[in-house]
Amino acid sequence: MEVVAVVNDSDPIYALSTPYGRSALCIIRVTGASLPKGFLEYVGLVDEKKGVFVRSLVNEGFKDSCVVLNFPAPDSFTGEHIVEIQPHGNPVLVKKIMDVLESFGLRKAEAGEFAKRSYLNNKISIQEAESIMVTVEAESFEQLNALNDFKEGGLAGRVNKIAEDLRSVLIEIESQLDFSDEGDVNLVETDSIEKQIHVSEENLMQLLVDYAPYEKEETRGRVVLAGKPNVGKSSLFNALVGADVAIVSDEAGTTRDVVRKNIVIEGVEYQIEDTAGIREAKGVIEEKGIAKTSEAIASSDLTLRVFDNISEISGAKTNKNELLVLNKSDLLDKAKLDGFLSVSAITGDGISSLKEKIRKLIDVPYERKLVSERVFDKLEESAQVLSSKASGSDVLELRAQQLRDVLNNLNEITGGIDNEEILGEIFSKFCIGK
Ligand code: GDP
Repeated sequence: MEVVAVVNDSDPIYALSTPYGRSALCIIRVTGASLPKGFLEYVGLVDEKKGVFVRSLVNEGFKDSCVVLNFPAPDSFTGEHIVEIQPHGNPVLVKKIMDVLESFGLRKAEAGEFAKRSYLNNKISIQEAESIMVTVEAESFEQLNALNDFKEGGLAGRVNKIAEDLRSVLIEIESQLDFSDEGDVNLVETDSIEKQIHVSEENLMQLLVDYAPYEKEETRGRVVLAGKPNVGKSSLFNALVGADVAIVSDEAGTTRDVVRKNIVIEGVEYQIEDTAGIREAKGVIEEKGIAKTSEAIASSDLTLRVFDNISEISGAKTNKNELLVLNKSDLLDKAKLDGFLSVSAITGDGISSLKEKIRKLIDVPYERKLVSERVFDKLEESAQVLSSKASGSDVLELRAQQLRDVLNNLNEITGGIDNEEILGEIFSKFCIGK
């Protein structure tokens, strides 16, 4: 007999909610409609109420004293009984505890299974679930702030209003269809219906202007170093990344290719690229390097144009997304450095203020609020359906069907999803243990 795998949405599951590796502490989360007695004995929580406990877990004769949190149903994130174990973050110990949990019949959670149960047990709405996911993924405070509206239900409020308006138009159309003779459509009524639909269409279009889909920004934060040979680009690159990665030499034209490295400024990752520099090419290899420089500059978020003398930097014009940097400040007259962003790649002077400037220039606040990609796609689809014009004798039937489709779409933004496939799609994007 063929066995069909069915996702059980209430059996006992566990997940390591913190990254696997060595750390002071880690969190192993357990949830289930009912948790096995053997497990509750192991963590010393048989018949315990909600609370924080210190328990000694014994594994292979080794006793680890750890904090255990108990959230009996229904007062928990998933609505089920949740236990959080916080042992020391030793991979051997963590692996052992996970084996023990499996011996009690617990299975490893799928990605997003905790959040999915939370949704299925009416603890969180679908958009709260999705905003948890993007909050974990967001890469800067600017993104986190742009997600606030989505998280707090601002979008849901506007979507619900549009859905409400469209629902009353749909009722109006349906009553028209009921009462009019076949093919005999009242033109005045049709006109008023079209006007109402048009208002909703405009409201939806406005959402597409006010919101943008959250996307992992792989290209965000690309900083390119450019300038004449020997101004100290490679040295500055090394000073920024804090390692001798690029080749530094007195000879002009030694950086023949683009060298990339990531640096983290206040928790945000930026990619720094050292280039061959813009100069007259003397060899084929260098020519290729120069072509790559132009490419790198064109696609970067910020170009640091490096100079090593005051007269040249004074005459230079700044373009958009460019920062003029005066290097070798240790060799220059200190009295003349005022008004320039001066650094010394050799002594490290000014490097931290340069990093600070990079952060401020790249991390501009978002003009549009962010929502999950799925939600944005639904908004786009809905707007598209509403804007496609229906005509002919069965115009009202067509309109009614379009409105039903749009209402379904909008409903999938704010909740009410019970389709296992759609739920799977949403929650599989989550982290394990969330
Ligand atoms: P690039 O061709 O622009 O990449 O320049 P390099 O980084 O290879 O540097 C060219 C030369 O300038 C090397 O001898 C470096 O040691 C020197 N140099 C770079 N930055 C500084 C600095 O801030 N101060 C001093 N005194 N020398 C520097």
